[in-house]
Amino acid sequence: MTHGTALTTTASSLFPLDQPAATPALSGGELPVREPATGQLLATVALATAADVEAAAVAARRAQPGWAATAPKERAAVLRAAAQVLERHRGEVADWLIREGGAVRGKAEYEIGAVLDELWEAAALPTRPHGHVLASEPGRYSTARRVPLGVVGVISPWNVPLLLAMRAVAPALALGNAVVLKPDARTAVSGGHVVARLFAEAGLPDGVLHVLPGDAGPGAALVSHPDVAMIAFTGSTAVGRAIGRTAGEALKRVSLELGGNNALIVLDDADLGAAASAGAFGSFFHQGQVCMAAGRHLVHRKVADEYTALLAARAARLAVGDPFREDVALGPLIDPVQLDRVDRIVRESVRAGAQVLAGGTHEGPFHAPTVLGDVTPDMPAFTEEIFGPVAPVIVVDDDEEAVRLANSTAYGLTAAVQTGSLPRGLALAGRLRTGIVHINDQTVNDEAHVPFGGRGASGNGSRHGSEHSRDEFTQWQWLTARQKPARHPF
Ligand code: NAD
Repeated sequence: MTHGTALTTTASSLFPLDQPAATPALSGGELPVREPATGQLLATVALATAADVEAAAVAARRAQPGWAATAPKERAAVLRAAAQVLERHRGEVADWLIREGGAVRGKAEYEIGAVLDELWEAAALPTRPHGHVLASEPGRYSTARRVPLGVVGVISPWNVPLLLAMRAVAPALALGNAVVLKPDARTAVSGGHVVARLFAEAGLPDGVLHVLPGDAGPGAALVSHPDVAMIAFTGSTAVGRAIGRTAGEALKRVSLELGGNNALIVLDDADLGAAASAGAFGSFFHQGQVCMAAGRHLVHRKVADEYTALLAARAARLAVGDPFREDVALGPLIDPVQLDRVDRIVRESVRAGAQVLAGGTHEGPFHAPTVLGDVTPDMPAFTEEIFGPVAPVIVVDDDEEAVRLANSTAYGLTAAVQTGSLPRGLALAGRLRTGIVHINDQTVNDEAHVPFGGRGASGNGSRHGSEHSRDEFTQWQWLTARQKPARHPF
């Protein structure tokens, strides 16, 4: 296992995140890791450059055939061991997710549980059937089998840093690929260094996984490197488009999991208490910094006042503060850039006529959970991915208008429908142009074995999860074999 996150922590550590850097040292200088809630210095991490990516990609290409030839049971054992290491150190990893990423403890615990699921699901992949026998001429044995791609480049974001790295790293490794992971520099420890440590402790052979925290520079170098056969990217639509262009030119496989502007539809027969609870969780979980966040609440006119009042009351009750030191429901936004963005969207929407029914303010890195009423489809709170704790409510007159407005976005990640009638919910769900839809639930849902992915500006139809990951991280090879050599007319 090779990684280059030179890291010193200020806290003593059971899980030795404070060990000196493994080789190779990275050449991009050092970045202070600051706790978003307090500004306190937590660690320093080494950053990668394009030259580091070059070295890692070449080393990964060299190491990959040996790893692919390792017995499937041994590969599975490494994945299981990584899960066991995480189980042993989950408290400490949770603290990193909280302090580095601004997560509340419940979000950190959820994330660790989901990462364990990813590792256990991935551990099952090496021994699953990976092809089938095909009809052919007598004397010819013909099969189609899935083979590894080679080196997979994984580029991951800061918002759910450990899970969104692991959901690609774990299956890619399990299926015999080598991996170069470039986590976001803002969560280099919880989205990078932790991944490296888990697999180092689990006994992954040297050179098979490289973790190179950094920004767009090393990310772009990874995408264009000729030794990297596939890019698994999770992040913004703008960057995803650029990566898709480069990967298209290079004819390499690319999996794009991008942004969302997800609709939560509340019909006039919904249980409004449950709907408001779903709406609050969907918009405010992890301060709304989730690709699946409920970005638009489309509410039937008959119940709009009552639903909005219930939602605003819930928002007003939620405590905001430092999630490491206080019992709060919402922590800080990741950085001032994100805070300014959320604030701009709220201010511009209010200027255009939206009403602030709860929140609307911010203090330091903390933005209050905010409910906006009287939102119309021309306002930024409707058209943009907010990525902050804001719940815009839009009134609709019937199911037809709900469907039309839900689909009136280029995004297509997830949606939810609240209704007292399952047939009505199913009929409506079938008309939503999203990769995921939930009836009588909220929009933020994931499980390690489901085909997770979006449509349109939310992604290129790639899917994460169990056998769907197998399809992403391997390719078909048609293989025939005869005992007697074939004779031909030439
Ligand atoms: P981002 O696109 O700015 O960054 C994501 C990653 O890409 C980071 O590691 C970043 O360093 C890297 N990167 C940036 N520019 C690059 C370039 N030119 N070439 C290569 N790599 C580059 O995303 P963000 O704004 O930090 O993350 C939030 C976004 O991610 C939101 O839009 C959110 O909806 C989306 N997201 C999607 C999913 C999903 O599963 N669909 C999950 C989480 C987040």
